Amino acid sequence: MAQLDILEHPDPRLRLHAEPVADFDDSLGCLIDDMLETLHANSALGLSAPQVDDSRRVLVLNPSENTSAPQVYVNPEVLSKSVPGLVEESCLSIPGIVGNVVRATEVRVRAQDCDGKPFECDLAAMDAVCLQHEIDHLNGKLFIDRLSLFRRLRIRAMMKTKARRQSNAA
Ligand code: ZN
Repeated sequence: MAQLDILEHPDPRLRLHAEPVADFDDSLGCLIDDMLETLHANSALGLSAPQVDDSRRVLVLNPSENTSAPQVYVNPEVLSKSVPGLVEESCLSIPGIVGNVVRATEVRVRAQDCDGKPFECDLAAMDAVCLQHEIDHLNGKLFIDRLSLFRRLRIRAMMKTKARRQSNAA
């Protein structure tokens, strides 16, 4: 197992549409192991493969306690959504930024496990919110895309200044 580097906005690789997984092989198993290690090392609630520069439709969650929600979702698909709510989100790929996003707080999802076995489950509260956030990553979408234009422009300017400072320091 290894901890993986996380791509940061505005890296164009975060904008790619991830490909469905067809081969449930060793390379997928390795990716999932490494993603789980990276998830826990960063104390994050969720992580998607595109964030670690792998364009496969895979996400992992750190489910809340008292839930039977699985940790690994391959080729996930939301079947139904309900109970929209305004939730505060952040993202490992956009460090230091938080924003309020409207998300369903109950979802039913269909996915496959690491061996390709299909399952369906119901997620609620933060588990539901995180799953939708990570599925957005699989579609090349970031939570800041769901904020107002004004807020997006400010974030873009902040990230550009930060990138400039980092390249000057290097
Ligand atoms: Zn994210």
